[in-house]
Amino acid sequence: MTASNLNPYKAAVEQLEIIEEILKLDPCVTIRLKHPRRTIIVSVPVRMDNGEIKVFTGYRVQHCHARGPFKGGIRYHPKVDMDEVKALAMWMTWKCAVVDIPYGGAKGGVTVDTKQLSKGEIERLTRRYTAMIFDDIGPFKDVPAPDMYTDAQTMAWIMDTYSQLRGYMVPEVVTGKPIELGGSEGRKQATGRGAAICAREAAKQLGLKMKGLTAVVQGFGNVGQWAAAVLEEMGCKIIGLSDSTCGIYDPKGFDVKAAIKHKEKTGKLRGFGRGEEITNEELLQLECDILVPAAMENVITEANASKIKAKIISEGANGPSTPKAREILHEQGVLVVPDILANAGGVTVSYFEWIQNLHREHWSESEVNQKLENHMVKAYHDASKTANEYQVDLPTGAYILGVKRVIDAQERLGLFP
Ligand code: NAD
Repeated sequence: MTASNLNPYKAAVEQLEIIEEILKLDPCVTIRLKHPRRTIIVSVPVRMDNGEIKVFTGYRVQHCHARGPFKGGIRYHPKVDMDEVKALAMWMTWKCAVVDIPYGGAKGGVTVDTKQLSKGEIERLTRRYTAMIFDDIGPFKDVPAPDMYTDAQTMAWIMDTYSQLRGYMVPEVVTGKPIELGGSEGRKQATGRGAAICAREAAKQLGLKMKGLTAVVQGFGNVGQWAAAVLEEMGCKIIGLSDSTCGIYDPKGFDVKAAIKHKEKTGKLRGFGRGEEITNEELLQLECDILVPAAMENVITEANASKIKAKIISEGANGPSTPKAREILHEQGVLVVPDILANAGGVTVSYFEWIQNLHREHWSESEVNQKLENHMVKAYHDASKTANEYQVDLPTGAYILGVKRVIDAQERLGLFP
């Protein structure tokens, strides 16, 4: 395994270089895209419940805004660092372009283990972090959203803090809010739903019907739970699930709704009491039709790619497979739907939420789901068509599509001054 395969930012730049070579792009054009437009590091002091003050490090990276305001999630995780946030911001740029929504890419994060913090401490951390990046975010500047270990409540605190400092309510400053505060119907389910729609389109291309296909989902948070639930709705049998506490396997299939209830009640999958307990590594290698990695980056590398037995991988997480792993998977005939397409359902419904907020409208869940379905199906087939045109695999086709759309916009805008 090379170091660059493990450094997400180096991997993101390598991916761009592959596209640069295929499209024979002028380095004067791509050089701007290899560097984020703005990187922000803030110190976030927080008064802990015991009276002590701890200082956490927060980041916001704004990669490119040639196609619209910056857009991207905020992640709370002990492994968050600048290179991870830079990579995630770049992937957001391509992702928004692939699903053709008018945003650029950004990402944020705080290096913190929220499992060690009380709710009050997380709220104070969120409000202070928001205050520290206040000047750099805004409805037409940069619109954050949830990511790992942040949720609708976190977005509500960000919206409230931003609005308090502005002096009036600004719901459109963040997406992924609670419904009561202008959140969109269907937003919570959107990323998982999008990953399931992509898996279904991939299955169609392989001549497979969803009914009876076996699926395995790694990560049982927002994305993983809804990907599993929607795949189950589509007729798949969910034979493997996992979270950070354990993996479980049952060839007869799990009742996903019951597993979600258990996770909501106890905070973990361990103790669900069904199936055989396995490790996360074993889970990835299960014999199945569809695999949805929906937890962390770099879980499929050149060390384990040849052991993957799935026919389709729909990448719910960001960067779950390294570029080298994707090459190996392609050689093995595994159809990989890359993250920038498979998990774009979340940002797509975030865009719908932003439009609803700006117009002070509220759309029904069926309207949101139908619009999401149309966007995802079109994006999947646009990427697939591009892959055919350039005789490359689907991940490369999606990157070509995204990079081309961004470069077209950047070149039209020119370079100031
Ligand atoms: P989440 O915090 O809701 O859930 C993360 C899940 O992963 C949890 O169940 C956790 O237990 C599990 N996990 C953590 N470490 C693990 C490990 N080592 N092995 C197995 N499971 C592990 O986060 P989320 O919002 O579901 O995000 C998951 C991934 O999807 C991230 O890569 C995120 O960037 C990406 N993503 C999320 C959204 C969104 O709308 N939430 C959108 C696009 C991409």
